[in-house]
Amino acid sequence: MPRYVIQQHHATSKHFDFRLEVGDSFKSWAVPKGPSMDPRDKRLAMAVDDHSISWGDFEGLIPRGEYGAGRVIVWDRGTYENLHEEPMEEALEAGHASFRLDGEKLHGGWSLRRIEGRRWLLVKRRDEEADSGDPVAERPESVVSGLTIEELGE
Ligand code: MN
Repeated sequence: MPRYVIQQHHATSKHFDFRLEVGDSFKSWAVPKGPSMDPRDKRLAMAVDDHSISWGDFEGLIPRGEYGAGRVIVWDRGTYENLHEEPMEEALEAGHASFRLDGEKLHGGWSLRRIEGRRWLLVKRRDEEADSGDPVAERPESVVSGLTIEELGE
């Protein structure tokens, strides 16, 4: 199964980097508010450059002066299943992907739909796992170290 990772990143902006393993890299989006379990929430997801698979394990401080300088924690990770017939790469090129996450925190279906340019929306699908919970607020800690992003810098 291909992997996904969500890294919380406090740099010049605060966001969650949502990454799906496609081919030999992570397709990536910066999601300012992070994922929601509520299908009514449409979370803006800005497409950013692909990242290497090895980057998905990174947690720590990116030094000042380097790209993305700031703090990073691995907020969630696991595997995903493509819910469309077409390969993930084609679905993303067409601007609409649906997938089921099986991670340490997140479970269930989400969709990613391109609005225009680099702007996409990440939305929870209506399924058994959908609810009004807020995993970002309820489970802020890293799945690697157990630290919150605030604790990481101390
Ligand atoms: Mn980032």
